[in-house]
Amino acid sequence: MSYPDSGKDDRDHLIRAIGMQGQIRVVAVRTTGLVEEARLRHHTMPTATAALGRALTAGLLLAVDLKGENVLTIRVFGDGPLGGIIVTADASSGVRGYVQDPRVHLPSRNNKLDVGGAVGRNGMLTVSKDLGLKEPYVGSVPLVSGEIAEDITYYLAASEQRPAATALGVLVDTDGRVLQAGGYLMEIMPGAEASTINRLEQRLAGMKTVTDMLSQGLSPEDILQEVAGEEAKLKILDCSTVHFRCHCTREKLLDLLVSLGVRELENLLQQEGQAEVRCHFCNESYVYSGRELEAMVQRLKES
Ligand SMILES: [Zn+2]
Repeated sequence: MSYPDSGKDDRDHLIRAIGMQGQIRVVAVRTTGLVEEARLRHHTMPTATAALGRALTAGLLLAVDLKGENVLTIRVFGDGPLGGIIVTADASSGVRGYVQDPRVHLPSRNNKLDVGGAVGRNGMLTVSKDLGLKEPYVGSVPLVSGEIAEDITYYLAASEQRPAATALGVLVDTDGRVLQAGGYLMEIMPGAEASTINRLEQRLAGMKTVTDMLSQGLSPEDILQEVAGEEAKLKILDCSTVHFRCHCTREKLLDLLVSLGVRELENLLQQEGQAEVRCHFCNESYVYSGRELEAMVQRLKES
C-alpha cells in the first residue's frame, strides 16, 4: 500500500524549544498527513479519526524524551462506543495506533467532533515507557473528559509531577478527509517563577485552537511563538519530520500464528489452505501459504 505524502514543503514535523531562560519547554507538531494516513489505513469515521488523531499526536509530543530503541505506549480505555485507543511512539518521531471500533461517528457537540463522547468520560489513561530497563515505567490516571488533551495534561501532573498545558486538534472535512491535525505541549520546569506561570496561563486562556492556527497557515514554529509569546525568547532545540510508522514484519506476525498451536493451524490448513494475519496497529495483512503452514505444524510437532 502507498499513501499520499503531505507534500515536500509542507511535511508533518515536530519542533522542540526552550524559553524564559529555561523555565519552560515547548513542543509543537503538525500531523495532518500522518493522521490522514491513519484514517486511510483504518477506514475511520470522523469522530474515530479525531480520537485516533489526537492520541497519535499526543504520542509524538510525549515521545520527545525517548532515546534509541525506547518506545512509549498510550492506552485510553473509556466506557464510550470507541472501546479503546492504543498508540505507540518511538524515539525517531514515528508513531502508530488504532481504535477498537473505527466506525464510531457521533453528532457534533458545540460544533466539534465529540471525542469525549466516543471515548467515554469514565475510564483510564495509561502511559507505559519501555526504556530498555527490566520493567517498563507505567503510569495510570482516571480520564478527566475523554477529550485526550485534558487527560494527558492531568496524567502529566498527577503521575509524573510535570505541570504542563496540552492542546490537540484534528479537523475533518465533510467527506471525512483530514484537513488539519496537530498539537502542542508546554511544560513548566521546576523552579519557574510564579510571574512566568501567571503570564503563560493568561496567554493560553486567549489562545486559538490548534486547528484554527494550522488553518491560518501557521507552522509548528509559528505555533510555538504564538503559545509562548515573544518575550519567552524561544530557543529552537531541534526539528524532525514525523511519520506513521509500524514495526510489524512478516516474521513478527508469524509468531502470532505459531502461538495458535498445532490443532488450530491444522484447522486453518484444512479449511482455508492458507492463513492471513492482520496487524492491529497499521492494518497491513500478511498471507502465509499452505506450504508455510505445513512447515510450521511440522516444526511444532518436532519441538
Ligand atoms: Zn503493522
